[in-house]
Amino acid sequence: MKVVLRNLTKKFPSRDKKNKADVVAVNNFDFEIPDGKLIGLLGPSGCGKSTTLNLISGLEKPTEGRVFFGEDDVTNLPPEHRGIGLVFQNYALYPHLTVRQNILFPLENLKGKDKLSREEMLEKAMEAAKLVQIHELMERKPRELSGGQQQRVAIARALVKRPRVLLLDEPLSNLDARLRLQTREEIKRIQKETGITTIFVTHDQEEAMSISDMIVVMREGMVQQIGRPQEVYDNPANLFVAKFLGTPPVNVFEARVEQGQLILGEETVLEVKGPADGPVYAGVRPEGFLLRRDGAFCCALSGVEVMGRDISVVASSKASLSPAIRAIIGSENLAEIPADAGQVRFALKPDKVFLFDRETEERIAFDVSARSGL
Ligand code: ADP
Ligand code: MG
Repeated sequence: MKVVLRNLTKKFPSRDKKNKADVVAVNNFDFEIPDGKLIGLLGPSGCGKSTTLNLISGLEKPTEGRVFFGEDDVTNLPPEHRGIGLVFQNYALYPHLTVRQNILFPLENLKGKDKLSREEMLEKAMEAAKLVQIHELMERKPRELSGGQQQRVAIARALVKRPRVLLLDEPLSNLDARLRLQTREEIKRIQKETGITTIFVTHDQEEAMSISDMIVVMREGMVQQIGRPQEVYDNPANLFVAKFLGTPPVNVFEARVEQGQLILGEETVLEVKGPADGPVYAGVRPEGFLLRRDGAFCCALSGVEVMGRDISVVASSKASLSPAIRAIIGSENLAEIPADAGQVRFALKPDKVFLFDRETEERIAFDVSARSGL
């Protein structure tokens, strides 16, 4: 089921006595979520992710705009008639009910023509339990389950009515690191198996990147960029998006363009055809640095961390906005670091370098065909 948001806005009255202006939690969202895909809503805390999800589920009413499921306008439809499954961070299971009873619960509430026989209900509950692989623990109570198992029950309960749209609000945030990894793989698998359009909210960029067919990057109630995770990583629309995606994060420099050359500090580091002369921010992904004895960009070397396959070179430069520059280099290049080095020299990979306007922080394109010999 395709989900369409049209000029969707949600304002909340201000709680701040000094600042009476409304909080615009969701500002004019206008995009389509394709049928059968897993979409990640990604952004820092307070950017409006939960509010967006609540507008889609019907738990919140929009101030303006409309929500469509396929061709149906569901804007005024209450949540229970939208055909959605909801999963929250804190599993919200009924503590006094067994796993089976928790999963059965949504089916037992079906009325009229939707009412199922006991056998049908038990069959559907078992089917959902098998999908999330909790079917061997059907007689347990939630307190007898691990966090990961409880979240599986919550997912089974959301799936048991075969929703048109599955909505997950930070479903992995209460799990420890290993379980989080495992459970997100599970969610991906379940989504693929069922083909249910799934909207997954998270503040964790790695989680969103790894699980989503498409991500919507948000900031302060505004959509920043929509695209496939790799596209957004490779082509961030602005400085915020560039900084929000990637670990270690993009390295940001105060730089300037002069006659088609990018200058960091005092050094001319890259040919960049196109942008007007003047100050810019330059972002360089950690994998955009190449160790070269004759590299144009000279930094003070602070340390080298070997992490198996890769090495992380930590350096500093006056042009950098943060105290440490972090470059990720294949460990085969370790020999390139001079033994007595107080300094290290880099060449830059042009496709890993982004320029941004100093005022608007929007991306500035530069000509790729004029790349400088790399
Ligand atoms: P996120 O899920 O991305 O952390 P939310 O959607 O919960 O963000 O919140 C977005 C903004 O809307 C925040 O500034 C938050 O304080 C505000 N907000 C959310 N719900 C309410 C509410 N019921 N009343 C007033 N303000 C709210
Ligand atoms: Mg939230």
